[in-house]
Parts: sequence; C-alpha cells; structure tokens
Amino acid sequence: MGAKFRKRRAKFIFVTGGVLSSLGKGLAAAAIGALMESRGLKVTFQKLDPYINVDPGTMNPFQHGEVYVTDDGAETDLDLGHYERFTSTTMGKDNNYTSGKIYYSVILKERRGDYLGGTVQVVPHITDEIKRAILSVADGYDIVIVEVGGTIGDIEGLPFLEAIRQFRLDVGKENAIYVHLTLVPYIKTAGELKTKPTQHSVKALREIGIQPDIILCRTDRFLPSQIKKKISLFCNVDEDAVITAKDVETIYEVPLVFHKERLDEKIVKLLNIWTREPRLEAWKELVYKIKHPKDEVKIGIVGKYTSLKESYKSLHEALTHGGVANDCHVLLKYIEAEEIEKRGAEPLLKDVHGVLVPGGFGKRGTLGKIMAIEYSRKNMVPFFGICLGMQLATIEFARNVIGLNGANSTEFDPNTAHPVIYFMKEWYDSRGGTVQKRDEYTDKGGTMRLGAYPCILKRGTLAQRAYKHIKISERHRHRYEFNNKYRQSFLENGMVISGLSPDEELVEIIELKGHPWFLGCQFHPEFKSRPMKPHPLFGSFIKAALDYKHGK
Ligand code: GLN
Repeated sequence: MGAKFRKRRAKFIFVTGGVLSSLGKGLAAAAIGALMESRGLKVTFQKLDPYINVDPGTMNPFQHGEVYVTDDGAETDLDLGHYERFTSTTMGKDNNYTSGKIYYSVILKERRGDYLGGTVQVVPHITDEIKRAILSVADGYDIVIVEVGGTIGDIEGLPFLEAIRQFRLDVGKENAIYVHLTLVPYIKTAGELKTKPTQHSVKALREIGIQPDIILCRTDRFLPSQIKKKISLFCNVDEDAVITAKDVETIYEVPLVFHKERLDEKIVKLLNIWTREPRLEAWKELVYKIKHPKDEVKIGIVGKYTSLKESYKSLHEALTHGGVANDCHVLLKYIEAEEIEKRGAEPLLKDVHGVLVPGGFGKRGTLGKIMAIEYSRKNMVPFFGICLGMQLATIEFARNVIGLNGANSTEFDPNTAHPVIYFMKEWYDSRGGTVQKRDEYTDKGGTMRLGAYPCILKRGTLAQRAYKHIKISERHRHRYEFNNKYRQSFLENGMVISGLSPDEELVEIIELKGHPWFLGCQFHPEFKSRPMKPHPLFGSFIKAALDYKHGK
C-alpha cells in the first residue's frame, strides 16, 4: 500500500496551564494548531474540562462564558471556537469532554455490568475512559492538540492529568509532548521579571509525574536570555523550549509571536516530524489589516451580560472579521438593556452606527432590547438581530407596526394574546427526514433546536445578496420559533421573510422593506465566522454601518 493510503498516525500535544486562569491557554492551543496547519499538517483539537456538568449548556454565562455550538449540535466550551477560528478544522461533540461526561459513561457501563464484578476506580477505569476519549478524535489527523482546562493544583483536574501522563507511556516519547503555560510577571517595585510562579507550577506538575517539554511564559515583554536560562535550569527544560508568550494587540498575532520564538520548529523537532516551513503570509496580512484599518465604525451591542465580554466571544470575533472584510476597525459599545429601559434608547444609541441584539434567554432586559430595535427601525440605523434578537424584532414589529397589542414570545408571557414567537411542539427535521417532537416539560437540555440546519434564501433579498448563495447552513441554539399563524399579516405589513427551512415551515431570516439594513436571523452566524473567511452577514452589516456613518 502506498504512503498515501496508510492510516495517519497522530501525534499528541498536551497543553496545561499553571499559576492562574485566564492566561490564554485556549488561544495558545489554537495558535499552536495554526502553526502546525501552516506547515501542512492535519490538525484537530480536544478540550478536557474538569467540572461535573456533562456539558456547559446548562451553565450560566457568568459562570462559564459563551456556550459554543458545533455543527453536530454539541454545546461546548468557548475554546472550541478559538480552535475553529484559528484552523480549518471542524469541531464536534467528541472534541469536548468534561469530568461529568467521562464519569457518566463509566457509571453507565458499571450499571450495565461491563466491569465484571470488579471495583470501579479512578485509576484505571476513569483514566482509561479519558484515554479512550482522547484517541477517539485522532483518526485521520497528524496532530491532536489536547487542552486540559483548569489550573495545575486544582483537585478536579487530577484524573485528566494522570490520564495524559499515562498516555505518553502508551504511545511513546516521540508521539506526545507536554506544553505548559505559566505567568512571568513583571514586578514594578522591584523592576524585575519573576520566575518563581513558573517554578512552583512546574514543580506541581512534576510531582504528578509530568515533565513539561515546552514552557510558554505569558508576559508583557520579551524574556531576556538570563531569565530563559533560569527557567530552563529550574524547570528542567531546554533553553530553546522556554517561549515568550508576549501580550499582543490582537489575538491573531499569537501564531506570529510564537513563530518568532521558534515554537513550531521546537514542536516538530520534539515530535520528530518532517514538514515544510510554515506559510504565514495570510496571518501576516490579517494582522496588518487589523492594525491598519482605513476607517472605524461603532456598533452598539444591547445585551444582558454586557459586563462579561466572555459570554459574547464569538460575536466579538465575528464583528472584528466583518471589519476586516471592510478594512475597518469595529469599536464595540456594550449597552446594558436595562439601562435603555431606564433612560430610553436615544441617549445610549445616538452615537452608534449599527445596533446588534445578540442571543439570550429569560425575560430580564427584553423590553430594553425591544426599545433599541424600535429606535433602529424608525431611525434607519442598521440593525442586526441574532436568535433572541430576531425574536424580539418580530415582537417589536407585531406590537408597533401590525398593532397586535401585547404580542410576545411564550418564553416571556405564556398567556400572551398574540404568541408571535412560540414553542413549536412538532416540526419536520429536513436533515434526517423525520418529525421532531418536544414538549416544554422534557429536560431542558433536550428541547432545543441545536446545531447546523439548512436554510433556503429568497433571491434578491439582503441575505441572499450577502451570502451570494441560495442554500446555506447555519448553527442553532434555541427553543422558540416564529409562529406561522401570523406570517401573512407580517408580510402584508412590510416584513420580508428571506430565509426558510427547506420545507418552508421554519422562519430563519426576517428583513424589513424600506430599511437600508434590518435583518434578524434565528440562527447564530457568529459561530461560523473565521478571520480569513469573514461571515457574509457580518461583512454586510459592517458595510451598512459604514454607509450609515458617511450618510450614504
Ligand atoms: N431564548 C430564545 C429561545 O430559546 C432565544 C435563544 C437564543 O438567543 N440563543 O428560543
């Protein structure tokens, strides 16, 4: 059999983090992936999260940040969003495992009697299950980057760390390496960079049997060679394996900074892989564009978790990409919806060139969002409504244009006289050709429309002109839908339905006649935007905001 047909044997890069959280471990993993891909390797990822929730779908955004949705409908950690944005890989349900998911399957097996009367233990049963999970994503790839969530020293993370320790024994030294991210703070009063936190973190890692091969040092300046020497000596790693992970202006610069530090060269050497030199022109061009925009627009994001930017991660990135498509910097103004309820829309929105109402759950703040939508509709300000934003645009139109008093979503008012957004109990799933049934009382996780669904666009509409296609596929995460009982009256009053499910039963995109750019979509386009391939709706929205700014 020729080499081409031989099964690929994947090599593994394990990424752990020390000292404290929020050092950018997910981004570091994603950037390593970008570098490996730029050398022509096929890359995939896995995130291992030490908490007990089976997935982050049921967590509060304050706890967890954004829930990232994959094509196959998994609700996952937001780091999977970084992985997809930094490489060409597609993530799915097997690319994110939590402790809960691991334990759940071990307990199911135990109940089924799979362990033949033995005592079920963390080692080997849980660790074996973890190793199986890691191997499950490796087929067909050259490199699997496995990021372990949490910080070294947390008790929850131990089974994962034990499993990755064993993993290298199983597959051999040249097939698995450990990359550890730490912090090297600059202490102003001493005028010095401090290596002690790094030393302690590596010590803790070595106590559980993992000797890192590479240390990424998060810092605000390039590490001088004597600091690298010191870290190398105390942490027992090669000097050229101490990498400066310097703060950057834009996250898309991380692969370039790592490359400058010769990280990719070190990785392929350690893993004994022969590759071409990395091709980083596209990354350089992207970073140049982001740093040298020709214009700027200000977009108002009206939401509920605006104090916590982490919950709008993909949205933030998609807007940046939309800016890149227009050579333009996108300034974001996060506006608390309840502030609008108190002060009115105008004082908070008069300085923005576009208004965006993102996805969300629960009643709090919905009135403020509706007020923002009304303001945008009446003042011809570009408006983009995503998921809940689309539903609220529907409600606003029903109340203020059609005159359906008290129109609402049954999510916020179960007894509304006009349920223009409602819970559809039965719908045709064109993906499998089956009828899906759900009721409000099934467990919360089971009642959402999740993952990629096809959508057919109407020719000549804003959406179709942006996408330039007729058939698209976008990711969903919601329970409620547009109520077809009212469709005719919406159309008669000037709403355009520009996107529908293939059977024409599910309304996916709405627009307004006579408004320069007013679009609401039931799906989450932000999950599919990539820096090198900005999402058409975001590109088109930012273009409209630019036109608005310049009075076109
Ligand atoms: N709460 C709404 C629903 O469940 C919208 C969800 C969302 O915006 N992701 O349908």
